[in-house]
Amino acid sequence: MSDCLIQHATVVLTGLSDEQARLPKGQCDVRVRQGKIAAIGALTAEPGEVVYDATDRVLAPGWVNTHHHLFQSLLKGLPAGLNARLADWLAAVPVRHRRAFDHEALFRLAVRLGLSELLLSGCTTVADHQYHHYPDMPFDPTAVVFDEANKLGMRMVVCRGLATQVRQIDATPSPQIAPEPLDLFFRRVSEDAARFNDVAPDAMRRVVVAPTTPNWSVKPQELRDIARFARSLSLRMHSHLSETADYGRHTAEVHGCTPLAFVERHEWVGPDVWFAHLVWMDETEQRLLVQSGTGMAHCPQCNARLGSGTAPVVELLRLGGKVSLGVDGAASNEAADMLSEVHMAFLMHRLRHGPQALSTDQVVRMATAGGAEVLGLPGIGSIEIGQAADLASYRLDSAAALGLHDPGSAPVLCGRALHTDTVWVAGNPVVRGGDIPGLDRIRLAAHAREAVQYIVQTVGG
Ligand SMILES: [Zn+2]
Repeated sequence: MSDCLIQHATVVLTGLSDEQARLPKGQCDVRVRQGKIAAIGALTAEPGEVVYDATDRVLAPGWVNTHHHLFQSLLKGLPAGLNARLADWLAAVPVRHRRAFDHEALFRLAVRLGLSELLLSGCTTVADHQYHHYPDMPFDPTAVVFDEANKLGMRMVVCRGLATQVRQIDATPSPQIAPEPLDLFFRRVSEDAARFNDVAPDAMRRVVVAPTTPNWSVKPQELRDIARFARSLSLRMHSHLSETADYGRHTAEVHGCTPLAFVERHEWVGPDVWFAHLVWMDETEQRLLVQSGTGMAHCPQCNARLGSGTAPVVELLRLGGKVSLGVDGAASNEAADMLSEVHMAFLMHRLRHGPQALSTDQVVRMATAGGAEVLGLPGIGSIEIGQAADLASYRLDSAAALGLHDPGSAPVLCGRALHTDTVWVAGNPVVRGGDIPGLDRIRLAAHAREAVQYIVQTVGG
């Protein structure tokens, strides 16, 4: 762990709400000891202390991305799915191309690409929803993702996916989209939990139980069994829900209720559960979500890219709901970085509700402390004494920030055009001067180009 003093930041965003959202002017120095924030205020360097000069920088908590599919980092902008809605896009892009990812090297490359892109945007914690497991998989994707995150020094939450049944859209049979029996899933997740899951409030590794969708991936009785299994191991639960209106139609036809009522019936609501998307919810569902303490991973860029709709984020925040931000996979959001995502979240809800719908500080909270709350990691996500020193500084001399009257609004208003300077995870500087030390980006780019060629040749574009 690196001890240091981060001094003279122009503004510090805390990740907290309202009047606590920014540190008072002149009280913006942050001391890091043993990976945690040890002091905040107007601080003087101690003898021999490493000092990081944050002059003309905005300092914020590292972003917490609560929904992603890292394997999609090599499936950006596939023409076959570029103008398709969710179901057709799923068939044409991630499901069809899963067979290319039965090589560990390709999967590992995709994970590295996705994580490095996120890290360079100031993201320090990632929840990766893995839905590509099949019974005879020749490598362990969970171990690969934890290994790659460890190399970059990032916190990683693996949401272990599951499909015990194959959807109609999986038109071309292949071993890579074969269903996984529930007992095999339970055995493997138990092993993963014993090997990787850390219960600390600022854990570097977490394992989550995450069937791909409650509607189509498992049978209703299995859904309840999965919830009981997860809770028996004190693991959190995650899935996709109500991304499109199809979820509501399907649940009404098959189960005679709304999607939220369906998951509640099968013990899939509570403070240990969060769902990605939740674009389509009526008011009763919104109240149920909030009252049960169930979280949301809001994915505005993916929802816009696939034309899925605008999630009721403003409504949920007014009810006191738990809203976090996720970039979702790069195959449905080619800007799979958190600066782009906060920018889009800010714009999308103002488009619908007007300019008072959401402030920049509310978006920062959603993407930091809001994410930590949803993931059950209370030791990260905010700049407060005792919290993990997961921090990101951004350059206010970036072209996009010049002329800006409120420097604290820069990460949200400037988006990806804001240059990241330094990123720390548990006090370790994992990005320096806008670069990841030890990562050969030229080599990575060459490998990415080769991989795209391979995917086109073996599966198609
Ligand atoms: Zn997703």
